[in-house]
Amino acid sequence: MRINADRLWSRLMEMARIGATPGGGCNRQALSDADMAGRELLRQWAEAAGCKVRVDAIGNLFARRAGSDDSLAVVMTGSHLDTQPTGGKFDGVYGVLAGLEVIESLNDHALKTRHPMELCVWCNEEGSRFSMAMMGSAVWSGRFPLELAHALTDRAGISVQSELERAGIATQTSSARPAVKACFEAHIEQGPILEQKARTIGVVTGVQHMSRHEIRVEGQEAHAGPTPMDMRRDPIRVLADLLPALYAATAQHGPAARFTVGFIETLPGSPNTIPGLLRFTVDIRHPDAEQYASLKAQAYALVREALERHNLKGGMSCFWEAPGVTFDSACVAAVRNAASQLGFPAMEMVSGAGHDSCNISAVAPTAMIFVPCAGGLSHNEAESAAPADLAAGADVLLQAMLAMALPDP
Ligand SMILES: [Zn+2]
Repeated sequence: MRINADRLWSRLMEMARIGATPGGGCNRQALSDADMAGRELLRQWAEAAGCKVRVDAIGNLFARRAGSDDSLAVVMTGSHLDTQPTGGKFDGVYGVLAGLEVIESLNDHALKTRHPMELCVWCNEEGSRFSMAMMGSAVWSGRFPLELAHALTDRAGISVQSELERAGIATQTSSARPAVKACFEAHIEQGPILEQKARTIGVVTGVQHMSRHEIRVEGQEAHAGPTPMDMRRDPIRVLADLLPALYAATAQHGPAARFTVGFIETLPGSPNTIPGLLRFTVDIRHPDAEQYASLKAQAYALVREALERHNLKGGMSCFWEAPGVTFDSACVAAVRNAASQLGFPAMEMVSGAGHDSCNISAVAPTAMIFVPCAGGLSHNEAESAAPADLAAGADVLLQAMLAMALPDP
């Protein structure tokens, strides 16, 4: 049994017309008119496929296909329909429509499953309009309070709650989370590795550990001309020492380590004044918990040593950290087996970006399926993926879900 690749592609293209941008991308920011129109289209498709649709108090949408024993734990799939302001046609949308395609394909083959299935559309994954990424899945999994999510506002001061109510969503009814047997999310990779290694399927085993830190170094403002080099209190000396040392430490932690200096600021920022203050940020990531902790500790030690060596005040502090996620081994095995049975070239990989699945995996067995995207590009209007790869990912999703939901004999 295979999914209907043409139907999947034509639905992706139909969804992309909602909030279409002149540059060929999509702008369906969370709870905007376009996002609501996209969700409404999905609701119509799901209801036409025989699903019961409900929406929870934070705007997550669930389309349920009954199981032959509907009291059994549900097998879930889904992703998000909201986009960045200049987003593409596939990020998130693909996971939702691949899930719908699974349900439609089961219908086409009149195949019932013992466990019920649910297709989920998680509300506000992108966090571009209301600045909390993965909001709906965070509330659903109990990791973020509903009231705080309702109170989030956009730049115009409009709250999540008022937008939900404008869309006719009941924000007060709290529904209990159902028992979940397994949850799968199909997604474009948003990186270049599958394409580079000529693999169709990424068997995602987890999400890497990540954190962001700020380093401050205090100097003394002085004239660039009259002040001798050995009489300066110049914070850039610390930066000059640190950068090669930090890159070397990263290299020692293997090819999976990630180190990014994304922001450097000097004050007062004048060409002929030695800076009185240096601030810069580092973003550190690694899929392995021990290696991640080791790289982080080494970075802190290097900063301390550099400050001491130059006898300058300052320090390093963490301002954001997301612990890594290891996906459920049985769910990962279901994806791996599905890819190998279908004969798709696959590889195990760790996601470099956060996803709704990070939240879901805190409370339910979860895994993800990646498919290649052109040039590894996403969060970009030019985001693109090959129809055959998208179909392959949906086929893997179908088989993985079937393995968990059990065909009814
Ligand atoms: Zn996404």
